[in-house]
Amino acid sequence: MKQRPSFPARLDSVAPAAKPQTLLGATRVLTKPQTAAARHAPTPLASPTGVGLDSSAIRARMVQKLAEQGVDDAVVLDAMGRIERHRFVDSALVNQAYEDTSLPIGLGQTISKPNVVARMIALLREAPGLQGQPMGRVLEIGTGCGYQAAVLSLVAREVYSIERLRGLHDKARENLRPMRLPNVHVIFGDGMLGYPQGAPYSAIIAAAGGEAVPQAWIDQLAVGGRIVAPMQTVTGQQALVVIDKTSQGLQQSLLEAVHFVPLKSGIA
Ligand code: SAH
Repeated sequence: MKQRPSFPARLDSVAPAAKPQTLLGATRVLTKPQTAAARHAPTPLASPTGVGLDSSAIRARMVQKLAEQGVDDAVVLDAMGRIERHRFVDSALVNQAYEDTSLPIGLGQTISKPNVVARMIALLREAPGLQGQPMGRVLEIGTGCGYQAAVLSLVAREVYSIERLRGLHDKARENLRPMRLPNVHVIFGDGMLGYPQGAPYSAIIAAAGGEAVPQAWIDQLAVGGRIVAPMQTVTGQQALVVIDKTSQGLQQSLLEAVHFVPLKSGIA
């Protein structure tokens, strides 16, 4: 069996309020035989604080769960294994950072569940127009804490991520700065208008759900590109919608029910 990283985890060097006992508790699962997903767990991005190495085993377990839940895109699993989700949540929530749950990030907003992040990015990568090529420019609506933008940075050439709440935009910048991801561009503004400066996009992904997909997103999508977004359905519930822009026109499909924060217009 492979050598495990030593513990106690040094997550406390980024998060003073973290309880090392609980983190140790979480390592118990690591005594089980490794699955293929865990064996192929990627090495984390270089981290200036050295925190990455210590949390990689916990993250490998998260990746293993994602694979068990049906995420079968190795590139997405690799990216999920490399981005340190604990860097994006409040220090008091660090212990839950690798659970498959959404968590509050302030101002009434939430970081999406890892499973939903992985699923939506995998859907983007399945766009027929991509034909297995890596994604070019991607627009994310709703930067939140910046986590999904960081994951996207590993699967797309350029990431433009827009947030309408100044407090979260600033937080995301702060969270992302030490990671030095030169292809991530965070923008403060109303994402309902898209971000024409980066258009056309090969993919647009929304982390907030409205009643319809704004026309601006469709206009800013390249032919062959795909939008994945939560949207309100006729029953008033939210579901994931996939829109492909083809040379013949738009193709829309409605997928599973989801629960995202509302898409709102204007900045605050
Ligand atoms: N992707 C984020 C999830 C953030 S939650 C992450 O990884 O943390 C969704 C975010 O969408 C919230 O921060 C909310 O403020 C933002 N949002 C809602 N409507 C928006 C709009 N019109 N433009 C930009 N951001 C918006």
